[in-house]
Amino acid sequence: MTQNSFCGFGPLSPVQKQIMDHHGTEPPGSSPLNHEKRAGTYYCVQCGEALFSSREKYESGSGWPSFCDVLKGAVGVREDCSHGMTRTEVHCARCQGHLGHVFHDGPPPTGLRYCVNGTVLEFCPQEQSQEETL
Ligand SMILES: [Zn+2]
Repeated sequence: MTQNSFCGFGPLSPVQKQIMDHHGTEPPGSSPLNHEKRAGTYYCVQCGEALFSSREKYESGSGWPSFCDVLKGAVGVREDCSHGMTRTEVHCARCQGHLGHVFHDGPPPTGLRYCVNGTVLEFCPQEQSQEETL
């Protein structure tokens, strides 16, 4: 994992804490990242771990930023039986902060839909020169 350069992050807001620590969910359609189409990397706001690449982001229409895959080893999963449903919860592998859920109705080749709260992601657009020199 060499892409942990993070653009900078401050203390978590109460809303971010609610999501990461207490498995909160942002209102659908509320995250500006729903409309983010630039190439770049999505980081955990709590610890700065690189979690998702723009290459795996797609428009699921769910109202939450959706990805069909994660950066290798960056995201952990566990079964979540809350709210009378069995879902698979996803969290940052480094700080264990809650990110969202993963569903099995995504596009090929993974067939997965990582449905993530944009509030707890920090997007850093890719600087082209940086990618080349690494
Ligand atoms: Zn984290």
